[in-house]
Amino acid sequence: MMEKNIFLDIVEGKIPAEIVYQDDHCLAFRDISPKAPTHILVIPLKEIRTHADVTEEDCELLGRMQLAAAKIAKQEGLDGYRLIINCEESAGQTVPHLHLHVMGGRDFTWPPG
Ligand code: 5GP
Repeated sequence: MMEKNIFLDIVEGKIPAEIVYQDDHCLAFRDISPKAPTHILVIPLKEIRTHADVTEEDCELLGRMQLAAAKIAKQEGLDGYRLIINCEESAGQTVPHLHLHVMGGRDFTWPPG
């Protein structure tokens, strides 16, 4: 079972997070348990449970998340980075709010586990 939507609590300021970027569509903060020297999560302010739930009306929002990730990578001085979205528990999703992992600062292997 996925845990409760703690990312909504971060959006609402109920639990603290180290916020690194925000705009009218997205919020980005450092992952509490980083798996790389830089590990940031970009989330939409709109409540979307998982990637499979996006619709035509989310096209701009998805682009905004990608743009935010590129800006954050520059801001963090990353010369290479990996973007990951885990969709559903079988793919490793643990928080039921769409999020884009921005990871960098080390070499990555392929394929991912
Ligand atoms: P997922 O496994 O769903 O793709 O990614 C969820 C991520 O959220 C994990 O990398 C986990 O470390 C991170 N996370 C879980 N709880 C918190 C929290 O309370 N604050 C922050 N900043 N990150 C969290």
